[in-house]
Amino acid sequence: MESPEQLDKRHLWHPFTPMGPWCAEEHTPLILAEGRGCVLRDPFGNEYLDGNASIWTNVHGHNHPVINAAIMEQLGKVAHTSFLGFTHEPAIRLAKALVDLLPGGKLTRAFFTDNGSTAIESAVRMALQFWKQNGRPLRDTLVAFDRAYHGDTLGAASLGGIPLFKGSGNDFGYRVITVASLDELYTLAEEERSRIAAVIIEPLIQGAAGMRLWPQGMLKALDGWCQAQDVFLILDEVMTGFGRTGKMFACEHEGVVPDFLCLAKGLTGGYLPLAATLATERVFEGFLGDPSEGRTFFYGHSYAGSQLGCAAALASLRVFREERVLEQLPAKIARLGELMADLPGFRQCGMIAAMTIDSPDLSLGVQVCLAARKHGLLTRPIGNTIVLMPPLCVTLDELERMVRALRLALDEIRE
Ligand SMILES: *Cc1c(COP(=O)(O)O)cnc(C)c1O
Repeated sequence: MESPEQLDKRHLWHPFTPMGPWCAEEHTPLILAEGRGCVLRDPFGNEYLDGNASIWTNVHGHNHPVINAAIMEQLGKVAHTSFLGFTHEPAIRLAKALVDLLPGGKLTRAFFTDNGSTAIESAVRMALQFWKQNGRPLRDTLVAFDRAYHGDTLGAASLGGIPLFKGSGNDFGYRVITVASLDELYTLAEEERSRIAAVIIEPLIQGAAGMRLWPQGMLKALDGWCQAQDVFLILDEVMTGFGRTGKMFACEHEGVVPDFLCLAKGLTGGYLPLAATLATERVFEGFLGDPSEGRTFFYGHSYAGSQLGCAAALASLRVFREERVLEQLPAKIARLGELMADLPGFRQCGMIAAMTIDSPDLSLGVQVCLAARKHGLLTRPIGNTIVLMPPLCVTLDELERMVRALRLALDEIRE
């Protein structure tokens, strides 16, 4: 009988994973079998703190009774029904709850898909189709930022500014201009500027680039420019949404409400795949007309607006209210900062903290994370950047244990 670890090596192909070293004799894959709060357990009973919230998804901890109960209750009714031509109450209530979270009533419509990349693709396709059929057909270009990450499907990857994630290096299907700064955007030649359908950005902080912070005020300035040019602003809050930056959404820090807001990872509290692209009424109205005119948004996925996912998302929002989650973050954010402040390259955006080992040896990040695992901390490096982004329910004591494990790991690698 082969062990599960052996069967994994024989039959699985893991995302973002060099499979040679993974399948090598000396590597033992870590199987995660259970979780509660910030703690994950392997089948042998070893415990680990979930230092990156299971790749930036988990919000209120694993096995949260309120979310569990909501999923079970929904399961007793029905798990999934098609959203093409039918509707259901969990999605209706979730759409209302999401648009109500943003101030000013500017975002009025929720378009559901099932992951962050498709939330981005929906926004891009809506923006391009909107201008095509509403009097500005030459607006065929998206502006994205250098080092941006917006997902892995071909359409989302086209916006990416990190060569590693582009695979073949091709651009896929539509025009993208990459700029490094607002100045570069402002000084684009008029013939380029007139072709811009939308600008897309990860607000406040670029995640996969290695937790790069944007200057304060940058988002507000970008929003002003987009409004002056009447160009759409797409905010990718797939990582920053749902409390990660200390507020429900990162855009709230600068009083910005975009034309499109893309949400995924934390939407269901990190329980089920669900994503939403929020859009304005103006965008929505640009797709109305007699069906024969061909103005409809012909796009969608089979599991769009899954009933189970919507039930989990509604429960997650309830936990935010009932447990006063956002109110408790300032103390945790301050403690996380104090604990890590002296680490090299330290930076922080709310509950997202990172440090970078300054070395030409780019394997150190992986080594530190492997060493940290022995001290009971799970996280994943981005090159030599180590990220701590725990579930928001993390306790001060757990934060201390996470940083202690990280420091022990750093000491071992330095030796
Ligand atoms: C993770 C992520 C995505 C892609 O989401 P998936 O659900 O993995 O497709 C897009 N944008 C940002 C900022 C992300 O962090």
